[in-house]
Formats: sequence, C-alpha cells, structure tokens
Amino acid sequence: MTKYTYDFQYSYISKFIDEKEYSKYLKFAKISIQPKYLIAPYFMIRYSSEALSWIKINAKLLDSFLTLKNEVDIAAELIMDKNVLQNPLLINEIINSYTKEGYDYIFIWIDDFNFFKDNSSKYFEGFKKLINGFNALEKKVVNLYGGFGWILLCHHESKYKLYGVAQSTGYGESRPITPVGGGLPINKYYFLPLHERLKMQEAIDILIKQGYMENGKSNSKNAEEYYKNVCDCKQCREVIKDNIENFEQYNHSNPFVTKNNIK
Ligand SMILES: [Zn+2]
Repeated sequence: MTKYTYDFQYSYISKFIDEKEYSKYLKFAKISIQPKYLIAPYFMIRYSSEALSWIKINAKLLDSFLTLKNEVDIAAELIMDKNVLQNPLLINEIINSYTKEGYDYIFIWIDDFNFFKDNSSKYFEGFKKLINGFNALEKKVVNLYGGFGWILLCHHESKYKLYGVAQSTGYGESRPITPVGGGLPINKYYFLPLHERLKMQEAIDILIKQGYMENGKSNSKNAEEYYKNVCDCKQCREVIKDNIENFEQYNHSNPFVTKNNIK
C-alpha cells in the first residue's frame, strides 16, 4: 500500500502538468518540477479504545514508506483529535512511534485546535509534551493550521518549538477535520490588540465595553482614542474617518458584478 501512495504522490504533479499542457512551457523555460517531500500514509488518531492500535499502524506505515528507494525526501504527518492530548500515555506512544531516522519534517493537524481558545485548556499541557517530544527527536514540526500564537512558537528561543505553520493569520488558523457546512461567509474583523479575527458583533461589544463607543464622549473623540489604542492602519482611517460609529461599516458588504466569457 505504501508503494502506491508513494507512486501516486510522485507522479501526480507531473501527470497534472502534462494533462494541463503546462509541461511544454516548463520544458521551454528549462524548469523541472518535482515534489519536495512525499508524505507517508497515515490514519487519523481518534480518541477511543482503538487509538493505540492506530498509532501502531501509522508507525508501520511510516517504517514501510521509509524503506522505499526514494529520490525525494520523506515527511511524516500526524492528524488527531484534540482529546488525545489529554492522555499522556498516548502522547508517549505517538512520540515513540515517530522515533525513526530517515525523515526530518512532521506535519501536524489537531482537530479544531485554536491557540486562543485552547492555550489555557486541558489540551495545552499535552500539546507542549507532544512538541517537546518531537523537539527532542530533532524533528521539524509544521502546524498545518496556525495563526499568530502558533507563529510565536516558531521563534528560535521558543521552549516548544514549531518549525512553521502552513496556513496563517486571517485564514485557516484552525480547522475541524470533519467539514462543517458552508453558507454565506460572515464578516470578520482582525482585532489588532488581540491578534484575533473576531465576528463583527464581538468586536463591537468589546469596543463598547472598553469605552470606545456609546460612552457619552463625542464620536470624533472616540475615533481618536481608537486610533491611539486599537488600530491606526490606513484601512481603519479610511473607514472610520472621524466618527467611531463608522466602525459599523466593516459589517457592510459590497456586491459587485463579475464578467466571464460565457455569452
Ligand atoms: Zn485597522
């Protein structure tokens, strides 16, 4: 099975660019494309009585993948429920199962794990233990979904060192593994002091509570205070001008018409 996964990943990109006829341009430009890493197959670790068996299966898959003769570096991946983080024994087992030579990178995705919501939770001790474990093995941990908080952990002096994040602030900071329904996207506001994207109503509630709105002072005075303490960016200046009530305009949407070639 690992061989098929290897071949699929290895040939997929070149097959894709052939089919799309990009290859003739790349050939002309003398550019050859090949994957940087191939990812060993894995199963998600759910928090259940079977978790240990799946950890062992993943370890075997990684072993087998590492034995394939390869031209491309191999990376590992770990996807799991955040409840697994509550169980130190499982974390030890995970670290043991990744204690192998032959690969440098491990990509992790913890279900719906959000730095701001989860950093003081029961999950965080487990997260630290997990990252310390990989650090001790000198593996480079890349968080597949991570915002500002996770980026801080990439600092070279970080005690729980991440090597990188694959998605970043403003988009894909955390993500549930089971997709949740679509619907119209709601407006969010990147609230600079908290480094967090908030729903508009939350942002407005905070501004009211902290005395930036509806506080008896003039709207222009409040706007000044806002620029001084919350955000002084060009966009806010354009939207808010000298009236804090204009902040509400961040909640508006601008419909626009797109044109395509269909006649
Ligand atoms: Zn701003």
